[in-house]
Order: sequence, then C-alpha cells, then structure tokens
Amino acid sequence: MKFSPLSIVLGTLCCLPGGIVKTAAQPSNQLTPVPIHAVTIKDSFWSPKRTVWQKVTIPDCFTKFENDRGGAFNNFDRVRDGKSDGHAGPPWYDGLIYEMIRGSADFLAAKPDPVLEQRIDAYIARIAAAQDRDTNGYLNTWTQLQHPNQRWGLNGGNDGYQHEMYNVGALCEAAVRYYQATGKSSLLKVAVKLANYTCDQVGPSPKHELVPNHAIAEEAFGDLYLFFHEHPELKRSMPVAVDESRYLELAHYWVEARGHAREDQAGYGAYNQDHEPVLEQTTIEGHAVRAALLCAGVTALAGINGRDDYREAAVRLWENMSEKKIYVTGGIGSTAAGEAFGKDYFLPNDGYLETCGAVAAGFFDWNLNLLTGDVRYVDALERELYNGALTGVSLAGDSYTYVNPLEAPQGNSRWSWNGCPCCPPMFLKLMGAMPGYIYAQDKSGIYVNLFVGSKAQIQLVGLKVVLTQTTDYPWQGDVRITVGPAKPSEFDLHIRIPGWCQGPSSPEDLYQPDNRPLNGAMRLKVNGKVVENLEVVRGYALLHRRWKSGDVVQLTLDMPVQRVKANARIEAAKGRVALMRGPIVYCFEGSDNGGAVQNLIIPLGAEFTPKHERNLLGGVTILSATATGVFKTGAKQVVSLPFQVTATPYYANANRGTCPMQVWMPEHQDSSNPQNQE
Ligand SMILES: [Zn+2]
Repeated sequence: MKFSPLSIVLGTLCCLPGGIVKTAAQPSNQLTPVPIHAVTIKDSFWSPKRTVWQKVTIPDCFTKFENDRGGAFNNFDRVRDGKSDGHAGPPWYDGLIYEMIRGSADFLAAKPDPVLEQRIDAYIARIAAAQDRDTNGYLNTWTQLQHPNQRWGLNGGNDGYQHEMYNVGALCEAAVRYYQATGKSSLLKVAVKLANYTCDQVGPSPKHELVPNHAIAEEAFGDLYLFFHEHPELKRSMPVAVDESRYLELAHYWVEARGHAREDQAGYGAYNQDHEPVLEQTTIEGHAVRAALLCAGVTALAGINGRDDYREAAVRLWENMSEKKIYVTGGIGSTAAGEAFGKDYFLPNDGYLETCGAVAAGFFDWNLNLLTGDVRYVDALERELYNGALTGVSLAGDSYTYVNPLEAPQGNSRWSWNGCPCCPPMFLKLMGAMPGYIYAQDKSGIYVNLFVGSKAQIQLVGLKVVLTQTTDYPWQGDVRITVGPAKPSEFDLHIRIPGWCQGPSSPEDLYQPDNRPLNGAMRLKVNGKVVENLEVVRGYALLHRRWKSGDVVQLTLDMPVQRVKANARIEAAKGRVALMRGPIVYCFEGSDNGGAVQNLIIPLGAEFTPKHERNLLGGVTILSATATGVFKTGAKQVVSLPFQVTATPYYANANRGTCPMQVWMPEHQDSSNPQNQE
C-alpha cells in the first residue's frame, strides 16, 4: 500500500488555492507543565545529586566526547574545513552532542552556570561553522566526511545507519531548550536551516520517503512547531523563512508512513516500529528506546493535533508496556538481541534494560500525564526517576551503566566510557527536565505530581501562586505544602496520591505489594484540619477552596516496607519477592551480605526494618532482616542458620566496586525448618 499524504489530516485543516494543505493545530493537552525556570529544587535527595550532575557529570561527558576516538567535536571542524574522511565515532555522534546540549540547557534553566554556558556557546559556534560549509544547511558529519554523495541514503547509502533524522531531531530539541534557558538563538538558527532542508527533502513522494530509523524527530519536530507557533516574533531573526506547519506535517508523516511501503523500506520491520501502521499497533515492539521515544512522540503530537487515533494508540501501547513488558525497576527492553522488548511477560532477571530505555519510558509517561491528566503516568514516571533511570550514573557522577539487569551474580560494574555512549546524554535529558515534572497546571488550578522539596512560581490566569514544598521524600512520607496566592483566590489544588500507597491495586498491575495498605495509608490536612470525604479525580486528591497566603497542606503517606510479588506469568520472579519502600526498589548487594547474594533466601515472616544511614551511598535508608542462605554440597542443598541481611536502593548499586547484586529474592516458606530445601 502506498502511503497517501492525504491521510495527514490535523485537528483543523483547510485547502488553500492551489491545493496546498495548511494546518493550524492547537494544543489539546489536559495539563500544562510548570516550566523548569519557575521551579527551584531545595531538598536533601535531589539537590546534592543535581549539583554532582551539573558540576561533574556534564563536564565529564563533554570532555570524554572531545577526546573519544579523535573527538566528536572535531567532526564538525573537519566538515568546516572541507575534509572528506576521518569521522570519529558512529553516525549518531552529532545527535549525542545535541542531546548533551539539551540536557545541559535544562540544567542551566534551573541554575545559571556561566562557565558551562560559555563552553556550550563555543561548541555551538563550531557546529554552526560546520553547517555554513553547505549552501543548503545540510549537516550530518558522518555522511559528509565518510560518504558525501550518500545523503538521505542515496547512491547506495543506508539512511537508517546514517541517522540523519535522529540527528536533526536531537538538534531541534537542543536548540529550543538552549533558547529557553539562555535566550540565545545561535543553535536555533542552525536547527531551522537543517529542519527546513529536511522538510524540503523528506516526506511523501516525490520527496524521499524516509522515516527515522531511530525515533526522536517525531516529538522534536512537533516541539519546533509549537515553539514557533507560540513565538512568531522569533521567525524574523531566523536565517531562513519559517513556516512551522511544515515541521508538524513532517512529524505526522514520520508517524503515519511507518508500516507502509516506501522507497526506503530496507526491512527494519519491528526493530524501528515499521512493521505495521503505528496508529494500529496493539503491542509495543522492537528496539525499546526507539519504541518508547516514538510513543512519546505520538503522545506529544496527540497533544498538538487533538486526534483520538493518536491518543488511543499511545494509551494502548503504554498499557501493553506497563502491564506486560516493564520491570519492577521501570527498566524496559528485556532482550539484548535488537536491544528489544521481549514477548509479553518475558522479563528475565539478567535482561538488557538499557538506561536509555528507562529514560525514554519516562518521557512517554510524562507526555501521557500532560495529555490525559491521569496520575497513573506519574506513578510510572516516578518509578523511572528513582530506580531504572537514576541508576544510570554513579554517585560520584563520572561512571555509567548501559545495561541494568536485576541480578548480577558475578557483579555489576560501571564504565568510564562506552563505544556507544548514548546513555549519559539521555540520563541528563531526563534529570535536566525533571524540575519541570514536579508541578503542572490547568485552567482550574495546580497539580502536585512529585514530592520534591522545592519552590514554584506558578502563573494561573490572572493570579500568581507561590507553592513551597518541604519533605524528606523518598525516605519519609511527610509532605508540607505552603500555598501563597498573590491575593486570596479560589482555585483547585490537585495532590497526587501515589499508586504504591493506594489499595487494592488493579489486577492488571504487573507488581503487587503483598502488604499494600488499604485504608488510612494516606492522610491530608489543610491548616491542621483533616480533610474529610476526600474527592479524588484521576488519581489526584482534589482540594478546592478559597486559598490565602500561608495556607498549609500536609500530606502524610505511610511508608511500610513492601514485599512485592510479580504477576505469576513472569517466570523469572516465581517464588520470589522484591522489596520496595515508597517509590524506591531495593536490591541485595554482596558488600552488605557477606560477598555472595544468589544463595540468600528471605524467610516469609522476616520483618524488614528501615534505618537511615546518612553516610552510606550518599545517604540512604537501608532495610535489614534475618534471613537464611542456601549452599550446595554436591547434589544437596544445605541451609545455613539465620543471619542478618541488608537491602540497599537499587539505584545505588555498583557504587562500591564490582559486587554481586540481586533484586528478586527466593522466599522461604518456613525459616524454622530449613531442611525442607533439600
Ligand atoms: Zn543508551
């Protein structure tokens, strides 16, 4: 079936004289984010980590990119100098540099840093100089240096491997974020030139019928559309004419042309979500990072075009992911072959779980929360933020993970740098964006999504509100929110009730705490008075009243240690238990448990006691209990006397050298009769 451009219809569509289809889509998201620059994080969990990421991780990654295999930035210089060989690194290196700039820009938006900004300005100057070499504004250093006659995969090239659309997508998102953080349009000018040239070259026939082999450009081009839609005055200072509707049309093409015959169809299939039309897909398939980023893009586009088929596809694919294909840590992509999603419920403990997967899933979650206003997507985002994604960078901030299995009998370890260093930039993108995930708003009021000590300046219609949140979350469940409207006013305050403290959970949940608190696990007070008959809307506690400055909302979440059981169809977790407390998933490391952990058994009745250790792993709450160990002697298993075991947060694993680690632990029915293990 040939893809028809007429299927690219938007919320509003009109035909101009000459048959040109013009689009005028309006945002239809349920929620609007409170931007990063309006939120200041000040707490004991995130603040120290964010300082490490800004002062150590970002410079460390930029320096390693500068030095890796001849230098990722030298690629731009060689293009500028008209060279035609000697590209350092893989074709997606340009994109990774742009992702570094996007992540850094968000950190700058939260906390200005002139040294970092100067460093990035110098990089942008080198990127712009490389682009100036081409009259059309084409920029893809690998193609230009290695195969200059193979743009867009022509003349025997491979458009999928060349990552042209991935790179331009990453460039556009970096350019928008860098402008938002610094007010500088230097990278934006580079981005619109390349975006315009991409729109000229790529799309329905007679253009090159290409879709991104690696998704990212779908959301990025939607964002670029929105950015110029909201800032038309900036078009005048751009070096080329900007018609933002072209960006949106191409983004729609990239979603809708998948699964249809095209000139580029080289058999990628499910690997890049090209096996069937995206809006008809029922299961999330293929390369996990690409799939989740494509879905994030479909969701973001649904927020622009208001189309039901986009929204329904996004929700359907998210439900397949979260009900059948995600790990308790939030990791996705269980199989190393193709870095892909496995079949439903195929979640082995030695799974692949690329850091980028957890990050991409977090972006997907967040976009769905904005689109629908449903709290369940923030629960999923929170799982990524505190577990699957957070583990991707060491506590010292200068070593990293690519794969994040749930058990490593020989020990898990981190690398200083990797042949494909995609994960650190993706990590920085998520954590850079994170201050903007804490709050959201709609026309009726404010949403508190994440419990993070912070101060937010929120502009409602005709009213400025300052919210101040103080909490020791995730170690303690007390949250205090001081409300400060500029003048006494009526509006809604929606407070998220986390899924982990609500019961009973839905049967679709992959992971169920066996001691899920039923009633009284959450209490809410306003100015010291318990809120009776609490109204809950889409998972948020709704507080509607006339707020005045100094009003205080107190949320108390019980935080018992939860023994989590997996759905019985997950083979790898059968007869096993994982520990959670609040949003934190725990693991057992050799360092705390006598070296090896694969022989530990957790007695059914073992009571885990939380204890905060200020000097361990940057300050963590550990869980300790009495357990037994099983040791093989010949064919027989011998069970040891009970001894003390300690669990630590999964995110902090592999920070004390290489040591064995395990999340899902076998449960022992009866610790008093260990011989029944024989
Ligand atoms: Zn990665």
